This record gives sequence, C-alpha cells and structure tokens, in this order.
Amino acid sequence: MTPASAERAAFHEFIARHRRFLLTTHINPDGDGLGSEAAMAMWLEAQGKQAVALNDSVMPPAFAFLARHAAFEVYEPEAAERHFGEADAVVVLDTSNRQRIGRLAQVLDRHAVPIAVVDHHVTHARGFGQVNVIEAEASATGEIVYDLIREGGGTITPAIAEALYVALMTDTGSFRYSNTDSHAHRMAAELLTHGLDPQALHAQVHSHASAGRLRFFGEVLSALELLADGRLVVLEANPEHFHRHGLEGADTDGLVDLPRTIAGVEAVALFSEVEPGKVKVSLRSTGRVSVDQVCSRLGGGGHVHAAGVLLRGSRAEARARILPELMSLIDALPPRAGAEAPAGPPITKSGGR
Ligand code: AMP
Ligand code: MN
Ligand code: MN
Repeated sequence: MTPASAERAAFHEFIARHRRFLLTTHINPDGDGLGSEAAMAMWLEAQGKQAVALNDSVMPPAFAFLARHAAFEVYEPEAAERHFGEADAVVVLDTSNRQRIGRLAQVLDRHAVPIAVVDHHVTHARGFGQVNVIEAEASATGEIVYDLIREGGGTITPAIAEALYVALMTDTGSFRYSNTDSHAHRMAAELLTHGLDPQALHAQVHSHASAGRLRFFGEVLSALELLADGRLVVLEANPEHFHRHGLEGADTDGLVDLPRTIAGVEAVALFSEVEPGKVKVSLRSTGRVSVDQVCSRLGGGGHVHAAGVLLRGSRAEARARILPELMSLIDALPPRAGAEAPAGPPITKSGGR
C-alpha cells in the first residue's frame, strides 16, 4: 500500500474539520461500498461525531447485518433533503463517478456541502470531491478505509473489523480475483485477530439467494453464446427473465463471473436489460484484456478486469456498441502459451475488480 499521501493527509483534515457526516456509496451497493460505510460510520461515531449512511438503493438482505452497528437509510426525497440540510460534510465511498450515487447526485446539486471521495476505481481518477483519496492499487475501498482509520489513530473494534472483512472478501471474490495480493491477505489476517469467523461471515453473505435467482442464472447461462473462436462469452438477460423468476430489481451479481471458468475464454459480456430500453453491461476479463476502456469510453468504468456501463437503447444496440471493440481487443492478443494443451493448470489468473 502507498505511504500516507497528501490526499490522505487532506482527508484527515477534512474529518477533523467536520462533525455531522453523511456517507454514501454507489447504486446497487455491494459488500465493499456497504462495509466501507459501516466501518467509516463507526470510526466517526467513536470520535464523538455523527454519521448516517444514506444510499440510493435498498440494503440487500445479504448485507443487512452491517446495519447492526451503523445507521443506514434509503433515499427518500424529504428525508434526503433533511439529511443534507443537517450534514456538514459528505463522504462518498467506493465510487468516484458522481452519477453512480444515483438520486443523491441531484440533492448534492442543491446543497453546498463539502465532499470527500474514498475509492479504488481506475476510471474517474480525479474524483468529484474537495478531497479525493483514490487509490486504484487497493483491492477494495475497505482496504483504504482500514489504512485511514489506523492512520487517524482509531481503534479497530470487532464490529469495524467485521465490516472491513466483508468489504475485502466480497471485492476480491473471496480472495480469488487478480486484485488479491499480499496486502489483502495481511489485512484479512489482521482483521481475523479481532475474533471474526470467516466461514460464518462468508455464509452470512452468500446464503440469501432465492431458488428463482438460481433458475434465472440457469436460464441465462444455458443460452450463453461463444464468439471469437470461444474466446468471448456473451450472456443476455431481459425484463421477462427477471419477471418470470420473481427477481426484485435486476440482481445479476455474480452471474457474469461464472463463464470465466470456461477453458480458453478471454472475456465475458453480460447485457442485462434491467427495464425496457435500459441495458446494464457488465464485462469481465480472465486477465489478459483490459475491459475498463470499453466501458469508460461510453461513460461507465470500473477496473481493468471488471467493468460496467449503463446504456440506453435495445440489447442489440448495446451489443453493437460493445462487442466490436471487445472482439478487436481479443483479436490483438498474442496466442496463449500452451493453448493447444487441452488439460493443465490455468494459464492466467482470473481477473478481478
Ligand atoms: P458490475 O459489472 O456491475 O459488477 O461492475 C463491475 C465493476 O465496474 C465494478 O467495480 C463497478 O463498480 C464498476 N462499474 C459498473 N458499472 C459502472 C458504471 N456505470 N460506471 C462506472 N463504473 C461502473
Ligand atoms: Mn463496489
Ligand atoms: Mn470496491
């Protein structure tokens, strides 16, 4: 991890200067966004400050346990207006793209409240805060929050350790993705000294799916397309799929990661039509193609091996905007060493976020 940077010093001054904090994260929040909010809120409260996490999207059941020790609220126009009126600072976690905080972005427009951004995405490297701690080498935003709390002289309580472990575990795909490094493992080991049960936490997060969700995965996966001589997998989901399996919202989390296990695959693209005319594109790489550039050109972004963008239009239009570029990136790759060997160890690490 980088040594304490000027931006980190500015962040600590930002925290010292303010007392009533509003925390937020990206739409469809994940374990990293929510765990980072919970940990940050607990650290601020321990300093006698006030902290409320206000998000555009509802808390997924898998992460509801994080709200035991921190106040979480879902966007609702009047309450949001009131919270912004009362807060004297905002901390945005796990996104540096202003649009990804959803409806909170419009409320921000009406309130001249200072903002600090803490994030690890490569795409919007400058951030939109007065202070921007954006460190793309961190495997999770929770890793940066962990460093910030310790730099700030804070105590890692068992509850903070739990929230940060969830952030790290989820964003590294349970320590499988290419962002898993010695720093991530060292942090995990240190967090476990606070009495966490990694098996129980993993089960806690990964035992909330409905049977319908798996049937939905099955239906989408059974129609997967193999393009570019088997190097590109394309998946499509449509509003009818979501509806048929009784899925609330368009929860595809984890689906796009599965075809990375197919031998010879370089990239996976999921075109998920979350509502008619609105297509969420998720791209994954198995380690050799950089997919963030394909999404950032269209206003989205993410990480080198995991990126996304929300596009207006039909699935066919979304495919036409994404697939030619993805195919040409794949075509430009040198052949895989030993690609002709049918059985053997995996050649590349699986790409991560
Ligand atoms: P997803 O495919 O939604 O799991 O996203 C993969 C990665 O790309 C995650 O790290 C997201 O934070 C990021 N990402 C997804 N959609 C967008 C977007 N519209 N803009 C910027 N980053 C995104
Ligand atoms: Mn995230
Ligand atoms: Mn993250």
